[in-house]
Amino acid sequence: MTRAPSFDAIVIGGGLAGAGTARALAQRGLSVLVCETHPHLAPKASGNARGLIMPYVATHTSPPGRLYARGFKFTHDLLATELNDLNLFEQCGALQLPATKRLARLITESTDCIGAPPIHRLNPNEATERAGITVSTPSFFFPDAGFCEPAKITRALIESAPQTITVWCSRHVPSFSRDGSGWRITLADGSSALGAYTILCGAHEITSFPQTSWVPLEAIRGQTALATSSPVSQTIRTVISYDGYITPSHEGVHFIGAHYRHNDMNETPTDEDTTEVLSRLYRTFPFISDLRVTSSRVCFRASTHDRMPYIGALPTQDNEGLFINAGHGSRGLITAPLGGEIIARHITNEPLNDLKESASIVAAARLSKRYESTISARHGERAPSQ
Ligand SMILES: Cc1cc2nc3c(=O)[nH]c(=O)nc-3n(C[C@H](O)[C@H](O)[C@H](O)COP(=O)(O)OP(=O)(O)OC[C@H]3O[C@@H](n4cnc5c(N)ncnc54)[C@H](O)[C@@H]3O)c2cc1C
Repeated sequence: MTRAPSFDAIVIGGGLAGAGTARALAQRGLSVLVCETHPHLAPKASGNARGLIMPYVATHTSPPGRLYARGFKFTHDLLATELNDLNLFEQCGALQLPATKRLARLITESTDCIGAPPIHRLNPNEATERAGITVSTPSFFFPDAGFCEPAKITRALIESAPQTITVWCSRHVPSFSRDGSGWRITLADGSSALGAYTILCGAHEITSFPQTSWVPLEAIRGQTALATSSPVSQTIRTVISYDGYITPSHEGVHFIGAHYRHNDMNETPTDEDTTEVLSRLYRTFPFISDLRVTSSRVCFRASTHDRMPYIGALPTQDNEGLFINAGHGSRGLITAPLGGEIIARHITNEPLNDLKESASIVAAARLSKRYESTISARHGERAPSQ
């Protein structure tokens, strides 16, 4: 029998969270195995044709506002500085329209906003000038925001990292278990690999493991579309976020998103949802009406009980060396790479320093009460063994 290969860390899941985690660990000299079910990296949520790199506006005292501002800076620095030569990021700016009452209040009343500095409050004329299309409401504008191709970033995070990462694609991990002081993953063909640390980066599918079936992660369906531009729409210069979003035309094509639905696991795009995605755009900009959808795609956000990701050590029994980086919802481009860095600092006992506040907001330790009550609700059933 051949001996199972051994790594410092095993990352389960080859999306942005897995790639960001593998990179951060490899940068510290650790050997890392990344396992991905599908034949290539980023086949799921991290595989959309485009993604917005855009902050979430909130007041300074709001934990999500502070987390997303830090995450935005982290991803922006990564793409616009560290990996700038790879041209992964189209920094065209982003206009945030008052799509909700909360945003309308922040735009018109609050002087205490955090997003991604610099953040500009524009009147409709100024917004129109920035966007290149008529905007009839006051808006926020983020000059440092923009869009990217998430799968390219996922691949680049691994390819540009130190060469201590091994990627196993077409390798679903059905289970993992304790092996001495470390972990063993066992694949469907009976082969296995060993790691001192295991990091679960499989989005909502993390709940398929017996040890983590209790983690509150919900899959929320999203459908997006690519559409050819019209003479009017091709003047759009920035990302625009309304109760959907549109990117500027790139090679004659816009990316338009995104529909949001609970309790729907249909992986096939539907005409009804394409119509909904387009009608949100047409309602906001009635003078655009003639875009032609060329393709649609469905994928799922992994949403958490408080809408913030779970990052860090899992609060389970016998959890030494077991971590999670998941639940990135609709903002994974600005939280998943940050999550990888936080986990790498935990594992290597590096001070969290500038990430201390973010790490405490996202800490998976906040699930400990939920874990305990799940276990006690199982009528004397013992905690799932590792
Ligand atoms: C429609 C839509 C639009 C979005 N738009 C934006 C946006 O504009 N900006 C933004 O910041 N965010 C956006 N997001 C969110 C962002 O895409 C996600 O938060 C991010 O991609 C999550 O990355 P992930 O690695 O956690 O998950 P995923 O990309 O889903 O990766 C998880 C991977 O784990 C693999 N896996 C799972 N279980 C196993 C196993 N047992 N063995 C092996 N492999 C396994 C899966 O196959 C998958 O590849 C959007 C999400 C959706 C659904």
